[in-house]
Amino acid sequence: MSDPRNVIIIGGGPAGLTAAIYASRAQLQPLVIAGTIPGGQLMLTSHVENFPGFDEPILGPELMERWRKQAMRYGAEFLDEDATAISATERPFTVTAAGTPYAARAIIVATGASAKWLGLPNEQKFMGKGVHTCAQCDGFAYKNKEVVVVGGGDTAMEETLTLAKIASHITILHRRGEFRASKIMADRVLQHPNIRVLWNTVVEDVLGDTRVTGVRARNTETHESIELTTSALFVAIGYAPNTGFLRDQLALRPNGYLEVQQHTRTSVEGIFAAGDVEDAHYRQAVTAAAGGCMAAIDAERWLATQEN
Ligand SMILES: Cc1cc2nc3c(=O)[nH]c(=O)nc-3n(C[C@H](O)[C@H](O)[C@H](O)COP(=O)(O)OP(=O)(O)OC[C@H]3O[C@@H](n4cnc5c(N)ncnc54)[C@H](O)[C@@H]3O)c2cc1C
Repeated sequence: MSDPRNVIIIGGGPAGLTAAIYASRAQLQPLVIAGTIPGGQLMLTSHVENFPGFDEPILGPELMERWRKQAMRYGAEFLDEDATAISATERPFTVTAAGTPYAARAIIVATGASAKWLGLPNEQKFMGKGVHTCAQCDGFAYKNKEVVVVGGGDTAMEETLTLAKIASHITILHRRGEFRASKIMADRVLQHPNIRVLWNTVVEDVLGDTRVTGVRARNTETHESIELTTSALFVAIGYAPNTGFLRDQLALRPNGYLEVQQHTRTSVEGIFAAGDVEDAHYRQAVTAAAGGCMAAIDAERWLATQEN
C-alpha cells in the first residue's frame, strides 16, 4: 500500500469538493475519491438559482465543473471511482476503491444521498423538465401553477407545504388511505385550502412532449384510471443516504444517515462527515458546502493534535 494520505475525501459533490478546497489550501494534499458519477446531485438539475454568489442562474453541471476546478487549482487529486469499503479499526485508515487500498490518516465522508424514484417509464426523460425531487430548489418555477406531489411521509408533507406558498393548487397522490407522516405535519397539509389528496392512488406515468403536462394515475381500490393536468410532478418518497459501504465501520442513525457529534465527527476519531450523507434535514448545496468546510477544518485541527 502507498504512503498514507493526510486526508482522503470520499464523494465529489458540494460537500466533498468544498472539503477538498479547504484541505488543499491547508496543505493537506487531499485525495478525493469522487465516485463514478462525480459532481453529485446537482449534475441532475438544470438551473440552480439559490446558490449564493451567482446573480444569474447557473446550470448545475457547470457549477460542479467550476467547483472541481477550484479544488484542483489548490492541489486536490481526484480519482473518479466509488469507494467500496473503509477500514476504520486501525490507523492509518484504509479506503478501498477499484480494488486498490488507499491509506489515510483522516477521512472525510461526503457521499451524499440519492432521491428515491418511482420507476415510471417517462420519469427520467422529464427530470428537471417538470419532474422534480426538491420543492425548495425547483418549486419557484411553478408560481401560481397546479402541481402534483407523490408521497405520504414527512418528506412529502414538507415538500407540499413549501409548494403551497408558491403554486396555486396542489394534488397529493398517495398509495395508501392515510399518511405515514407525523400527525402535526399531516394535519397542516390536510387543513390547507389549496391542497387536495387523492388517497389509494398510484402514479402510472408522466405525460408530456418536451415538458410535463400531466400525469396518469390509478385508484388501487376502484382500478379507475385518471389523467390529471399538471405542470409538475414532485416525487417526494424520500432519500437514501449513500452509506451502504460504511455500515459495519461507522455508527449510522436508524434512518441510515451517518451519526455525527461535535459538528462533523463520526463515531470513529479521525473520520469526519459532511453534507447530505449526515444531514436529512436541510439537503441543500449551500448547507452541504458549509459541512464540507467544517469537516476539512475539523480534520486539519485533529491532524495537528496527532503530530504533537
Ligand atoms: C434534481 C435536484 C435538484 C437540486 N437542486 C438544488 C438547488 O437548486 N439548490 C440547492 O441548494 N440544492 C439543490 N439540490 C440538493 C443538492 O443537490 C444537495 O443538497 C447537495 O448536492 C448535497 O451535496 P453532497 O455533497 O452532500 O452530496 P451529493 O451531491 O449527493 O454528492 C455526493 C457524491 O458522492 C459520490 N459518492 C456516492 N457514493 C460514493 C462512494 N461509495 N464512493 C465515492 N463517491 C461516492 C456521488 O457520486 C456524488 O458525486 C438538488 C437536488 C436534486 C436531486
